[in-house]
Amino acid sequence: MNDENRSELAKGYEHREVEARWYPFWKERGYFHGDEHDRTRPPFSIVLPPPNVTGSLHLGHALTATLQDVLIRWKKMSGFNTLWLPGTDHAGIATQMIVEKELKKTEKKSRHDLGRAAFLERVWAWKEKYGSRIGEQHQALGAALDWERERFTMDEGLSRAVREVFVRLHEEGLIYREKKLINWCPDCHTALSDLEVEHEEAHAGELWSFAYPLADGTGEIVVATTRPETMLGDTAVAVHPDDERYRAMVGKNVRHPLTGRELPIIADAILVDPKFGTGAVKVTPAHDFNDFETGKRHGLEQLTVIDLSGRMNAAAGPVAGLDRFEARKRVKELLAEQGLDRGTKPHALPLGRCQRSQTVLEPLLSDQWYVRIEPLARPAIEAVEQGRTRFIPEAWTNTYMAWMRNIHDWCISRQLWWGHQIPAWYCPDGHVTVAREAPAACATCGKRELRQDEDVLDTWFSSALWPFSTMGWPERTETLRTFYPTSVMETGHDIIFFWVARMMMMGIHFMGEVPFRTVYLHPMVRDEKGQKMSKTKGNVIDPLVITEQYGADALRFTLAALTAQGRDIKLAKERIEGYRAFANKLWNASRFALMNLDGFTVGSDVAPAVARTAADRWILARLQRAVNETTAALEAFRFNDAASTVYHFVWHELCDWYIELAKEALYGDDSANKRATQAILVACLSTAYRLLHPFMPFITEELWHVLRAKVGAEGWPDSVLAAPYPATGPLDEAAERAFGPVIGLVDAIRNIRGEMNIAFKVVLDDVEVGSLDRDAAATVREELGRLHRLANVKDAVVRPAGLPPEKKAASAVAVGAGFEVRVGLVGAIDLQAELGRIDKEIAKLEQDLAGIEKKLENPNFVQKAPPEVVEKDRARAAELHEKRGKLEAHRAMLSGTAGPPSADLARRNAMENEKPQNPNQPASPAQTTIEQAQQVISSVAEVGKAAVSAVVAGAEAAIEKVMPSRKPAQKAKKPAAKRKVAARKAAPRKAAKKAAKKPARKVVKARKPAQKPAKAKRKSAKRR
Ligand SMILES: [Zn+2]
Ligand SMILES: [Zn+2]
Repeated sequence: MNDENRSELAKGYEHREVEARWYPFWKERGYFHGDEHDRTRPPFSIVLPPPNVTGSLHLGHALTATLQDVLIRWKKMSGFNTLWLPGTDHAGIATQMIVEKELKKTEKKSRHDLGRAAFLERVWAWKEKYGSRIGEQHQALGAALDWERERFTMDEGLSRAVREVFVRLHEEGLIYREKKLINWCPDCHTALSDLEVEHEEAHAGELWSFAYPLADGTGEIVVATTRPETMLGDTAVAVHPDDERYRAMVGKNVRHPLTGRELPIIADAILVDPKFGTGAVKVTPAHDFNDFETGKRHGLEQLTVIDLSGRMNAAAGPVAGLDRFEARKRVKELLAEQGLDRGTKPHALPLGRCQRSQTVLEPLLSDQWYVRIEPLARPAIEAVEQGRTRFIPEAWTNTYMAWMRNIHDWCISRQLWWGHQIPAWYCPDGHVTVAREAPAACATCGKRELRQDEDVLDTWFSSALWPFSTMGWPERTETLRTFYPTSVMETGHDIIFFWVARMMMMGIHFMGEVPFRTVYLHPMVRDEKGQKMSKTKGNVIDPLVITEQYGADALRFTLAALTAQGRDIKLAKERIEGYRAFANKLWNASRFALMNLDGFTVGSDVAPAVARTAADRWILARLQRAVNETTAALEAFRFNDAASTVYHFVWHELCDWYIELAKEALYGDDSANKRATQAILVACLSTAYRLLHPFMPFITEELWHVLRAKVGAEGWPDSVLAAPYPATGPLDEAAERAFGPVIGLVDAIRNIRGEMNIAFKVVLDDVEVGSLDRDAAATVREELGRLHRLANVKDAVVRPAGLPPEKKAASAVAVGAGFEVRVGLVGAIDLQAELGRIDKEIAKLEQDLAGIEKKLENPNFVQKAPPEVVEKDRARAAELHEKRGKLEAHRAMLSGTAGPPSADLARRNAMENEKPQNPNQPASPAQTTIEQAQQVISSVAEVGKAAVSAVVAGAEAAIEKVMPSRKPAQKAKKPAAKRKVAARKAAPRKAAKKAAKKPARKVVKARKPAQKPAKAKRKSAKRR
């Protein structure tokens, strides 16, 4: 299956075939293995943030895997000893819930029916069956993970690390057990940490007031609450000590209207704001966080009235047994019956919900384990202050700091069965023994009947240890010595607190050093409109479907290309299709090159190419620039810039230009010339594959193998992943500048043809090139033959260096990167046909416009149709108006009824269009002085500018229909084989041929505005 000596590529790029081939190849050869004994290469390590064992690959995983794989492959190719460590998280609540659900469905049993041990057996069985799914999905994506080191948060080693950390923190007084209020989920039946609470800031609720009668019968005191059921747990009423209204009441008691208990009236300046409501507040220490603190200050009774399932317990008197929300209604009724209801008003209140079940949380009083966090947070703050760990994008530093400085103790016990059971044992006397292994006797009294704490640890407790527990801690392993601290933690910014912050604290505390040097937080993936993807909106893009449809390489490249710092990723299917086309392009270009490498062999060097022509020097210079810029972007975590640099080079320079230019030598008779060109092609392709490999690992591996076999490059490594990443080096700006204008000129002339409807067949015999610098002028003269062939030009005139083309009537002018070109249109254009076409286009457009305007004039439609439909029609009408204006302007220009605008206007436009240019970019107008630019542009009629855009934007479809023969402008760019097919296809279109043959009858006057080279590029790419 894996014939490594294949020296031919399949005709079409089939991603399924290619992507099935290479993962086993890399894995079996051990390319993914990080070598802990290797001290010769610098280490580069990443621990994969462990996905939930219950997980199925979603876009967030795909993004994480892509970015980390880009880094790992790039670093490995750059000579680093890389380790990317995989594993999964046991995901306490999520996994337990899945198995519970399954149990209920298939056997109609609850976990309690099975008992703890039997239930846990079921969970392990589930894990064995499904736990490898997420790992396999990562493999399909190409993730170069070191599977020999795969870990699971509940495997034996990691469980040992968890117990070790718990015991040590307990010994150090940093873990304690205490009865406190915690956020409780009555649905999941467990405590939650602050981070697992989803806060709704302003839930639309109501504030209900009622009166407490004074016990001595001297009056009443009115309080307000958003949770009436909690009044059954009230143990005081508080007022402000300075509040004159209540001064006399402090120290007296009120009588509870439903239970008859007496409650003291206390004065508390912290809890009570005298300006809010009546200035009196009910106090429920067992069910409210502020009241809990108040209760501690005043020694109040903590009376629990709600149970773990959210029902009122026996202490709730007349509402005992009711659900908390039913009790809410009932309490109001009961108090109304006693005439104590003092009214209700709407009130926005903060509400906490369970992250998993969305249940409204209940603050409940219970015994839980906590990490005393402040002593751990302090060094983790310092590490970032000192730059031992840095955040990218940097703005996240503040988020991290703010949270760390206001951090609360971390509740780590969960009332679940699936997880690390807390290593604490209780004797009958209530003494607690914390130990690494089950103790034989109570450490305090020596009693032997011990019961282990039934709770398990928060899932995030074990993942906080991930960067070192996975490497063998608490043993001092070689792996830790080599790969800790890890180089990069790459993850979504939504888990900066869950993961990053806690890993920092634990890593520093137990390893004495930060767990990672750099934290790169990637943006969120959203849909093309920037909306969050969700099942209810139906806008979810499933990476598994995408990979099947377009290939993992296309998905990976898309994600990398969209990952810009500080911006959400807006993912559209069209983008993925576009990058799938990029893979196709590379495949086809490679295939063409391979067909023209017969008999060519290379020595052991990867790049043995010597430039002989200006084009050779140019492509090698551009390649070096692409290498330098891609590397710089990767160093700075600018994934989007790295991807777009490679993309631009491969598509727009190597495929569009160099491979086209190479044809002359490849098909020619000069064998030395041919060999030199072949060498450059091989150098460019083999470098491009290596440059692109981290982004598109599968296709580049395939291409590398075939090229290596074809040119007999036995000295090349047998995998592109084992080949060196292209080295940065000095740029050759002179080579870029000299040849850049040749390419710009061909593009510009082809564009003028497209926009003026001049078929490629029509020879342009009045072309003048100017405004070139000295080098470029020499190169253009040397390359004139090529220019003539590629743009079908005869006898082009090259002006002396620095001089612009002469001004002439009936010409189209283009200003480009370091050049200007004038194309005389006499004899090149068929005026009557063009005018006829425009008339037809205007007529059709007016018909459409009339239809829409009639609709918009109808008040019935405007009032009754959905606003977005009306808005769409209005926009369409405006668009048609604009198009008509452009077409009319174009027509006026061609028929000679419009004069040029004043020179002043043109000059002003020229100034406004002036943009700062990067001198290192040869694709920008570099050598043209302002004065020269003005000279040219002042001859450019405003009306002509409109005409050009009209042809491009509005009438393109019409042109395609009437004059398919304008296509040859692009034909020259296609590989030979394709060109033949295209020519055959075009043959039957006689009308088109005729149109092309028809001589132009009349001289027309047409001028063209400054052409932005980038835009021209885009357009030609689109048409292709
Ligand atoms: Zn819940
Ligand atoms: Zn004891």
